[in-house]
Amino acid sequence: MKVVDMHCDTILELLNHPEKGLFQNDLSIDIQKLQKGNYLLQNFALFTDQKVLSIPEQQTMRLMDVFWNEMEKNKEYIAPVFSYEDIEKNEKAGKLSALLTLEDGGVVFNDLSMLRNYYRLGVRMIALTWNYPNGIGYPNFSMDDFTDYKQASPLQQIDTVHGLTGFGIQYVQEMERLGMIIDVSHLNDAGFYDVLKNTTKPFVASHSNARSICPVARNLSDEMIQALHARGGVMGINFCGDFLEEHESPNGPSHIEAMVRHICHIKKIAGIDCIGLGTDFDGIHSDLEIPDASYMNQLAQALSENGFTQEEIEKVFYKNVLRVYKEIL
Ligand SMILES: [Zn+2]
Repeated sequence: MKVVDMHCDTILELLNHPEKGLFQNDLSIDIQKLQKGNYLLQNFALFTDQKVLSIPEQQTMRLMDVFWNEMEKNKEYIAPVFSYEDIEKNEKAGKLSALLTLEDGGVVFNDLSMLRNYYRLGVRMIALTWNYPNGIGYPNFSMDDFTDYKQASPLQQIDTVHGLTGFGIQYVQEMERLGMIIDVSHLNDAGFYDVLKNTTKPFVASHSNARSICPVARNLSDEMIQALHARGGVMGINFCGDFLEEHESPNGPSHIEAMVRHICHIKKIAGIDCIGLGTDFDGIHSDLEIPDASYMNQLAQALSENGFTQEEIEKVFYKNVLRVYKEIL
């Protein structure tokens, strides 16, 4: 089964561990594992933590450098995607595709010119926020505890009040104009509906599950999933145990059976066409039943055993995400 994965944090691991490379490493994702897992495309997020860095944009540029160095070093096996045609071209050439994304779209010096420069540097998808307010919008967290942009805040509060800022609205409209994919994972509920209101094309939640099955604020409500589906968008099933099932303490284990429960639920309330994969590999600090990219077939197997047809599994594994990429890129 071919695989398209909308989210991983591998580039940050490679920045933090310069001795590791993308071709072969002890992480969940490397080129050899992607090949073994029959991947068509992997999204690579440049994750920047705005809270711990004095100039977050500098970190984003370092991560960008790691990504492009790895593309250069491994060009026999993997190639970047700027347009939909590149995915087909790479597949024909027997290469993996790599799509560059940002996780925390706030790294733009509050200026749309930087957003356009990221596009020129190859970024094709952006998660508008991570876990802090960032000038674009707000994650789901408690505004009661919010006094300062960089203050840590509890992330279990559903926020239906604080939508996108004026800059955030300009930002998503500029993304649509450029042909970048808007990613609402981490964004709060109010921001989600503002994206819906201020855009016209499909968008994604690259790594978010169903709140009805696992009631954490990082997951999407049924109403949000239905709205995403109606827009033609797609959500990527996140393999992080804490977003799959309730645990006593953080970093609980991740089970295939829970992934299947989420997929069954989303199919029931919205339809199979809005389900994709967004593993969050190399950003998860818990035990994984699917430990790395080479084992993705275990999920296909489990879906098949739970009555999903081959066509439905293909949609979840790559066809739905490719449909959105084809429309936007
Ligand atoms: Zn994330």
